Amino acid sequence: MIDIKQLIEGFRRFRHEHFAEHDTLYQQLVEQGQTPQVLVVACCDSRVDPALVFNCHPGDLFVIRNVANLVPPLEGHSGHHGTTAAIEYGVKKLGVKHIIVLGHAHCGGITALVNSYGVSTPDSYMDDWMSLAEGARKEMEAELHSAEQAVKYRECEMRAILVSLENLKTFPWINERLNDGSLILHGWYFDIGQGELLRYEESSRTFQAA
Ligand SMILES: [Zn+2]
Repeated sequence: MIDIKQLIEGFRRFRHEHFAEHDTLYQQLVEQGQTPQVLVVACCDSRVDPALVFNCHPGDLFVIRNVANLVPPLEGHSGHHGTTAAIEYGVKKLGVKHIIVLGHAHCGGITALVNSYGVSTPDSYMDDWMSLAEGARKEMEAELHSAEQAVKYRECEMRAILVSLENLKTFPWINERLNDGSLILHGWYFDIGQGELLRYEESSRTFQAA
């Protein structure tokens, strides 16, 4: 377990080693700004760090992290839409070419959703947020009602990725870019137990090992 003192020590090492080694890159990123081609919607889960998993450098990925890597659909302007605002910035301002919804195995948010049977607790931000994946849970239950819990979690984790991909298509500025080919959506699943990456294939409607 890491403590605050270790974070400060870690930063000092980062500054002397990584930052010093990549000083040209950092200078370029400061002078020219960021131009990431890939936007990733990942989970807050401390075990799923997109830059680490994909072996990327600063400036490579525009990363949005929230509980269970969910994308809300197009909604009204009331409230504070953190995920939607970040996607809008990535697409419209930075002009990313790809959006990856990165799900993962052993997701705490999805586990809570599956175990709650869709019952929402009043005053819980978390339950309200996870209700975005309620459609995925219902579909999974309809098909795998008597399956063991581990199978249900995995299936719901994967189906929730597909819900987010569909929700992305509800934004006109995303649809526009999908239609002219300037943007491509991807549904990926990182199995943290096996160290495997699975990618959703539209043609077979299945997740396949990368
Ligand atoms: Zn998660």
